[in-house]
Amino acid sequence: MNSTDLRTFAEGRTLDALRGEANTFCESVWGKRVFVRGLIEFSNHCARNCLYCGIRGANTRVARYRLSSDEIVGIVREGFRLGIRTFVLQGGEDPFLSVLDHCRTVERIKDATEGTAAVTLSLGIRSRSEYAALKAAGADRYLLRFETSDETLHTRLRDGVPFAARRRALDDLKELDYEVGSGFMTGLPGETEETFYENVLLCKTLELDMVGIGPFIPHPDTPLWSDAPPSLERTLRAVALVRLLLPMANMPATTAAGSIDPLGREKMLLSGANVLMPNLSPSEAKRRYLLYPGKVCLDEDGSACLSCLSARVLRLGKELVFDRGDSRSAELRHAG
Ligand code: SAM
Ligand code: SF4
Repeated sequence: MNSTDLRTFAEGRTLDALRGEANTFCESVWGKRVFVRGLIEFSNHCARNCLYCGIRGANTRVARYRLSSDEIVGIVREGFRLGIRTFVLQGGEDPFLSVLDHCRTVERIKDATEGTAAVTLSLGIRSRSEYAALKAAGADRYLLRFETSDETLHTRLRDGVPFAARRRALDDLKELDYEVGSGFMTGLPGETEETFYENVLLCKTLELDMVGIGPFIPHPDTPLWSDAPPSLERTLRAVALVRLLLPMANMPATTAAGSIDPLGREKMLLSGANVLMPNLSPSEAKRRYLLYPGKVCLDEDGSACLSCLSARVLRLGKELVFDRGDSRSAELRHAG
């Protein structure tokens, strides 16, 4: 299938029909289950300057912070006590933290959870040997969105970082046997209809285990401050199409969707998404990790967040579950 075929398919259906098909398809694999991942935003220091991102290194208005390994492990212990079995460590490309620092933290998380919790990292582009060291330390999964499949746009928006570097990193992660997650923002300035459908198709080409899709939301202290955010419909369409192409992948209902529409995450869960990521970071860190304005749930602690999400999910006729929830595609790879 090429992007023209995909577009013809998508435009032949209403958005509601597409979402309904994707939700049915999702439930045929995952049932009514919505998996929980505890998100920890460990640092907002970043050496990169992606034009869209509120914590880009050049933004001098950000109050920078970095959680210590002790703080991260403390958050994990509390999340584990609440039942969470997957922890996602996400942050900027922080030059102060070496790969050995990250390895040590991963090992400590594994110890603290008796080896039962999955550790997902989202630390940006690293060398293959660094990814290998992190895997050996116990990391199970890695999230690295490609952001856009348009190579020229990618280089411009990521301030000179070529698309090929992202692609190489994703290939390395796959070869090192990580569960690999990637994805894109919808409505980035310069995105065409063709790019949109190419983004969806690239998720399939990469045979991703996890796919994160969210709307681009302009941050006032970035070069893209004056661009308009896309409608949520664009994200819902993307999620539904990816779900139809990748039934066995895990797909989060992203915080960015909840930030442009109070029911954004619920709408994503009815469009093929099957994961929620409550933010376990301390409130002060959440406030400083502002990729875009309007971020939700800044004050709730982990337990309040889980109760709120559980009630929201129940209202959809679905159920919040705490299993590790490995992607079916990774399970099949390992079985085969
Ligand atoms: N530094 C790592 C990286 O770039 O992969 C991980 C952290 S980065 C902040 C996580 C994701 O935030 C990016 O992949 C990007 O899609 C998203 N993001 C950044 N700025 C955004 C914005 N203005 N609106 C919506 N999402 C944004
Ligand atoms: Fe840094 Fe990631 Fe933000 Fe780019 S998107 S500036 S790499 S934190």
